Amino acid sequence: MIIPKESKLSAEQLKEVISIVEEYNCRVQPIEGHHRTIYAVLGEERETIMVNRILGLDYIDRFDAVDSPFKLMDIHSELANHRIVVGGKMLGEDPFVIAGHCTIDPKNPQLFLETAHAVKEAGASAIRGGVWKPRTMPYSFQGDDSSMKILIEAREQTGIPVDTEVMDEHQLNIAVEAGVDILQVGARNALNYSLLKKIGELTADKPIAVLLKRSMGMGPVNEFIAAAEYIAAGGNPNVMLCPRGTAPTMDTYRNHPDESITPLLKEKTWAPVVVDPSHSVGRAKYVPSAALAAMAYGADGVIVETHCQPSKGIGDDPKQSITPKVLEKLIQDINAIWEIRKHYNNRVPQTA
Ligand code: PEP
Ligand code: MN
Repeated sequence: MIIPKESKLSAEQLKEVISIVEEYNCRVQPIEGHHRTIYAVLGEERETIMVNRILGLDYIDRFDAVDSPFKLMDIHSELANHRIVVGGKMLGEDPFVIAGHCTIDPKNPQLFLETAHAVKEAGASAIRGGVWKPRTMPYSFQGDDSSMKILIEAREQTGIPVDTEVMDEHQLNIAVEAGVDILQVGARNALNYSLLKKIGELTADKPIAVLLKRSMGMGPVNEFIAAAEYIAAGGNPNVMLCPRGTAPTMDTYRNHPDESITPLLKEKTWAPVVVDPSHSVGRAKYVPSAALAAMAYGADGVIVETHCQPSKGIGDDPKQSITPKVLEKLIQDINAIWEIRKHYNNRVPQTA
């Protein structure tokens, strides 16, 4: 990791750095932070001669070789103080709640817009709405490009950011072009490394964050952080990690709830954790307690499927969406846990 003396390298300086690094089969990836740009060296960054040549340039402050498989996402990396801001809200400062439909019904845009207003009123920070959906059965509704207009309309009407899942490059291009604020990578694609790389590249230097779900089969937390590292190495470090339940399922729950990995993630990475209780437990009646458990475990926020009329919903909505009224109470309770947590959270000074 190269840290320049000024807030960023000039084009001339960057060219010089790249030419040195390439001699050692490495490449340079600029990572734009709030205050300055740092330059990740991807490849064998411990090559002593290369490091010394870089350090010999009078516009370079430091060269930190990170002793971790995660050069960017590691809690001790140069990005440790990087903060993700979405719609003017900084993750980690207040609870970040994303709420809305599993799936947007393009035949009924009004329903989605109604939910969008209602979740905003309930206190949500962002709206979720699936334009495209990964469905187990190829004959189930797969989503539709036309729903993107409805998603963006919801942002225009409410003024809060929007989140949607992308599964391939076609969808990614449409979502980036439309300026979606949060791109969701679903559990099925969390190990699709070429998609992760592409997302990092296409969203580098753009005010777009990525919500990376944990795949159903992921075991060690390192595997999850490594997936986030792919996006960051592509150029976008604004990655939020989203545990959403894993296999095997637990009795009547949809998956095996995994919000308890939050403290383990936070020991290893600075990335915010936004838990998805909806897909984890899979039934509306279990969602509030799972969301509160996630917050008690130290999550920075939750993403909760919410629908103004769940029985009229499509996709997962009829079975697992809570109503905006339940969301409103849930957000109050999340805020209460946030306050209580300050007494326990190591990252916040103890008050007693
Ligand atoms: C979703 O958020 O609607 C979804 C499909 O989630 P996951 O990728 O976690 O299954
Ligand atoms: Mn869903």
